[in-house]
Parts: sequence; structure tokens; C-alpha cells
Amino acid sequence: MTKHETLILAENFQEEFIHHRRHLHQHPEIGFELPNTVAYVEKTLLSMGLTPQKVGQAGLVVTIGNGNGKTILLRGDMDALPMEENTDLPFKSTNGFAHTCGHDIHTTFMLGAAKLLKEKEKEIHGTVKIMFQPAEEIGLGAKDMIENGLLENPKVDAALALHVTPDLEVGKFGYKPGIAASSLDGFFLKVQGKGGHSSEPQNAIDPLMIVNAIYNQMNTLVSKEIDPKERAVLVIGKMGGGTVANIIPDTAHLEATLRSFKPEVRDHLFNRVQEIIDATVKMMRGTYELKTISTPSLYNNETLCKQVVPFVKEILGEDNLQIDAEPLAGTEDFSYISQQVPTMFMWAGSNGLGDNNYPLHNPNIMLDEGVIPLGVAVVVHSAISWLNQA
Ligand SMILES: [Zn+2]
Ligand SMILES: [Zn+2]
Repeated sequence: MTKHETLILAENFQEEFIHHRRHLHQHPEIGFELPNTVAYVEKTLLSMGLTPQKVGQAGLVVTIGNGNGKTILLRGDMDALPMEENTDLPFKSTNGFAHTCGHDIHTTFMLGAAKLLKEKEKEIHGTVKIMFQPAEEIGLGAKDMIENGLLENPKVDAALALHVTPDLEVGKFGYKPGIAASSLDGFFLKVQGKGGHSSEPQNAIDPLMIVNAIYNQMNTLVSKEIDPKERAVLVIGKMGGGTVANIIPDTAHLEATLRSFKPEVRDHLFNRVQEIIDATVKMMRGTYELKTISTPSLYNNETLCKQVVPFVKEILGEDNLQIDAEPLAGTEDFSYISQQVPTMFMWAGSNGLGDNNYPLHNPNIMLDEGVIPLGVAVVVHSAISWLNQA
């Protein structure tokens, strides 16, 4: 197969893209606190003759095209993780944060896409909107940008996102139609009992007994109430209270996460956890405060996938796009966008250099930069072709 013209163009700028990636990699920032990253992205977009707009707390959006017809959104996330990097790369980070999820590469994909789309602006029948989002790792960035108008003016009709993965080699991409990443619910429970002397239990209400009862009951939910053919995991990762052996403590706490794929499975477990907490605490004469934080599951729209797949194959080759890549047990906050518009989320193979085969979020991971021109070409060609067909 002859190499696609868009891929050749992306490869011509490879050095420039790698320069961006290494700069971002060496200067990671986290959550919504991305002043240097946002400034770098903004400066780079301005140098291309584009006009980035700030959206939400720390997001940027840029639009390219003639404004007639449909609008397709491309997503790149910019945030790193609060952890040390443990590689020997000459551009490793040393500030206590690290790009172990590859969002430095995702930001580079989008800077590269902006550059190529600007060059090809005359070929675009419609609008490509590129978002640079903060706070993906804490599940809040996409939501914040949506609440601040991301999907309007112009109104977004479809959205694409790439995520690097060490599970596929460079040159191969994967996707899963339908549910592509789990939902995540976090439960943060504080139980109020009544503290007292261990010699007078009759005058106290022991909150440790209460969280213990909740713990036991919650751990039966997945095994006893969910069809074994479904996937869900409910983990109580933190629990406790008290200071010394002869004091019945006043309060105790319990924290849990629930990951699941199908909305009906999620809803059942989410409601049952709250019922168990409520009933158990009341039965045992305590009171409680419960906070929950939820991210929905990511849904790949089948129709959009069917439309986009041929364009991806024109870049990668017929055999290099795997369907039914395993859904992610982790969470992706691109899911907020997938609830509003048809989306397609793809894995981009960037298997580690040499014998480096660590998972995402591992301090030793080294992703292969060879994925950069492929990722750029895939999103640029898919966006232009989809708009031209729409
Ligand atoms: Zn991550
Ligand atoms: Zn990620």
C-alpha cells in the first residue's frame, strides 16, 4: 500500500512534533493547575496563525475550517499524574509529576493536527474544533469544558479521541464499538457513632461496628446480585477509625470505588450501596454523611465508528485497526462528551521502547514517539473526510 499523503505530511513535521512532546514531557503539571502547559499550547497555536480561546478553568479550544456544514471535535488531554518518573530518558521530569498516561503525546497529536489542518484549511468543508482539556485524571476536565460551552458555537456533531497504549505496537490502533470504558463511582462515607470509655459500651455507639457491618454487606453485592456474565468491581479501599484500644471512637470512615460497564448494572449497585449504608447505620443507631463522585461509562457510537473506520484504515493499512479491543476497566472522562454527541475513542499503539513494557501510570513507562505522526494523520484525515461526507 502506498503511504497516504496526510501521513507523509505528518512525518515531514516529525522533528517539530517530537520537540513539543519532549518539552511537555519534561514539564508536567496536574489537574486544573496547568499554567505552563496551557501557555505553551497557546503560544504554539498562535504561531500557526490560529486563535485559541480559553474554555472553563484551564481548557483551550481552537477551530479550523470554513464554518459551513458540520463540526467535528478532536480531544487532547494535557494533565499528568502526581508521581515520580523512574526512567533514564534525557527529557524525564524531575518536578514530582509525570506524564505516565501519555497525555504529553495526546497534546502533541492535537498540536500536530492543528498545524496540518491549518495547512489544509481549504480542503475542510465544515469546522474542526480541537479541545485541549485539563484534569482528565481526576475526571473533571471534560465536564468543566462542556459546562462552559465546549459543545456550542459552533455546535459539535461528532467527536474523536485517541489514547496511547503500551498494549499495541506502533502502527496498530484499536477500538471497541459500544461501551469502551467503565463508569466509576466513588463513595466517601463518614459514620457518626458516640464515643466513650471501653468499660462502658452501653453508653456508646461504636462506629467501627457499623462500618464493619457495611463492609461485609457491600462485599456480597457483586457476587450475589449481579449476573455472573456481567462485569463489575466494588472495592472498599480504605476503612477505619479510632486511636487506642480503650476508647470507643466517635466516628469511623469507609471509602469505596465501583467500576462497571452497563448502565443498568451500575445503577443497581450504586443504589444498593446507598441502601445498605442507610439501613445499616440506622439499624445500629448511628448517623452518617455520604459523598459520591461519578464518571459515566464511555460509549463509542456504532454508526460513527462505521463511518470513520475506512478513513483510519487509509492511514494505517487494512489490517492495522483492531476491532473489539478490550474495554478499559479504568475510566475516561471523554465519556461526558460521549453522553452528548456521537463519539469514537481509539487506542493508539505506542508499545514501549525495547523491553520496556510497563502499563500506563507506571513510573517506568516509556512510550514510543513513533506513534506521533500516525496519530496526527489519523485524526486529520478522519476529520476532513468525515466532514466532506457529512
Ligand atoms: Zn491516566
Ligand atoms: Zn489517560
